[in-house]
Amino acid sequence: MRVPAKVNLALCVGPRRADGYHDLATVFQAVSLYDRLRARPRADGRICAQMTGEGSEQLPCDRTNLVVRAAWLLRERYPGQTAGKGVDLAVDKQIPMAGGMAGGSADAAGTLLACNRLWGLNLPVGELAELGAELGSDVSFLLYGGNALGLGRGEQLTPLAASGRLEWVFATAPRGLATPLVYRRFDEMADRGAIVPDAGLPDEVIEQLSCGVAERVAACLRNDLQAPALELYPELVQTLRAGATAGALATLVSGSGPTCAFLAADAAAADRLAAELPKHAPEVRDVRRAYGPVSGPSIVDRA
Ligand code: ATP
Repeated sequence: MRVPAKVNLALCVGPRRADGYHDLATVFQAVSLYDRLRARPRADGRICAQMTGEGSEQLPCDRTNLVVRAAWLLRERYPGQTAGKGVDLAVDKQIPMAGGMAGGSADAAGTLLACNRLWGLNLPVGELAELGAELGSDVSFLLYGGNALGLGRGEQLTPLAASGRLEWVFATAPRGLATPLVYRRFDEMADRGAIVPDAGLPDEVIEQLSCGVAERVAACLRNDLQAPALELYPELVQTLRAGATAGALATLVSGSGPTCAFLAADAAAADRLAAELPKHAPEVRDVRRAYGPVSGPSIVDRA
């Protein structure tokens, strides 16, 4: 199975709530950067994970790993139907780790779908999405893919119409950025009046997405976590500038960062941008081409 990453075309962040979370109004787009996930049944009832690929050496395979947590959650909620059933989960990571593209959430979404099938639970996706929200705010969206408006913590979803596809270039960074740290800096900046929290609906992005003209979408992209991410990771200022120099229509930190997203006018312009970018941004780890929207987790082979 392959599971896509996401980018936020709009990420509007409200003030910190009493429970520590922030109200969000976000427009998600699933993009064609994928982790690969293989799930095989285990007769001994154990839930085991193995991680390979980019950054996987930093990831423990114990119950802190989101794929292991997702499988356990499903088993705990449906003990009757899953008694004695185990799974071997193998993830090949291509989505940058702690990169603001929700790779961990994508893996969790894929695990919920895979175990649902493997263990014969046959739960509808809506029910898996409710479980997914307990694992992380982006898991629900990544079960569906496409484009969606996310409210609440991002888990209250409304699918969004889109016409055409957007052509992206992503620049990954040599180190990750922990999402809670970025939200903490957001709160500090709000306290000192540097930003005004506002989780109002990103109407313009929604409207332009339905029209599908990249130039017009580019003009209204918004990420409220960009300013705190740039304070925590100042090298990204240079990366964003490099993207503009290399011809991007819009430059944006992806989610909580540090991956930077560049929107191009069309596929040929994105290819040129991807070739040009490393010349202007030596600090970048890797440059990736992608497009969106793409569908959620899909089976690519049965090997
Ligand atoms: P967010 O969804 O908060 O934007 P992100 O895209 O910045 O997250 P992820 O790669 O999803 O970053 O990982 C966030 C953290 O989750 C990692 O730093 C890691 O400690 C933990 N994690 C647990 N399981 C996984 C997994 N399977 N893949 C990636 N990260 C995982």
